[in-house]
Amino acid sequence: MTGKHSLVLCGGGLDSYVAAFHNQRMHVDEKTVLLFVDYGQKAVKREWTAITKLAGHLNAHYREDTASIVAIKSFTFFRKYTTSSLTNDGVAVNREPRAGIASEWVPARNTVLMSLAIAIAENEKFARIVTGINKEAAMAYPDNDAEWLSRFQRLVEYAVLPSNELELIAPLEDLMKQEIVTLGVNTGFPSAELSDSWSCYNGGATHCGECSSCRSRKNAFDIAGYADETEYVK
Ligand SMILES: [Zn+2]
Repeated sequence: MTGKHSLVLCGGGLDSYVAAFHNQRMHVDEKTVLLFVDYGQKAVKREWTAITKLAGHLNAHYREDTASIVAIKSFTFFRKYTTSSLTNDGVAVNREPRAGIASEWVPARNTVLMSLAIAIAENEKFARIVTGINKEAAMAYPDNDAEWLSRFQRLVEYAVLPSNELELIAPLEDLMKQEIVTLGVNTGFPSAELSDSWSCYNGGATHCGECSSCRSRKNAFDIAGYADETEYVK
């Protein structure tokens, strides 16, 4: 890397799909590395499939060597030392609409993952780290707020060597989920390709259709007015 490429922190959901695609549109001649962390989440296999499809879509829309993937595997910290319905088999993912989100919160997850990304980005001399944090997720999770990223940006000056400049980018920070779907389509991503993303907190063969993430996904396609080709159990 020569100090101009992008590292995209990816979970394989709608947000990371659109953040990655929008960023590529902004930097068409540069390369993108999708950073995926297997932190013991129940949906890890589905998310991994979604990430590999995302890389394929980027390479199909741009040059064939545009996107590659770096995977941090067996990052067992959260599963061992924190409790969340996303990572612990004994804690069920909530299926009630608007029920508390406490069980889905993975303690300080995005802060830990961003720190890992900063270390990789400094070492490989990336120009920027891209994240899919957005307005809708920020309503539930403080580590999706634009202010969280802004404070991280200020920390970066002291986190990496002075000779390494690194920008943190959140193209979706002012957007609700339906606006993210619309932006994805407007940046050249057909809704069928957006449907290859994985949002469900459960790791089933298909989206459960009932967890808060599935509900948000369904609503997003519905309100945006684009076909949702996702298969849901309910
Ligand atoms: Zn679900």
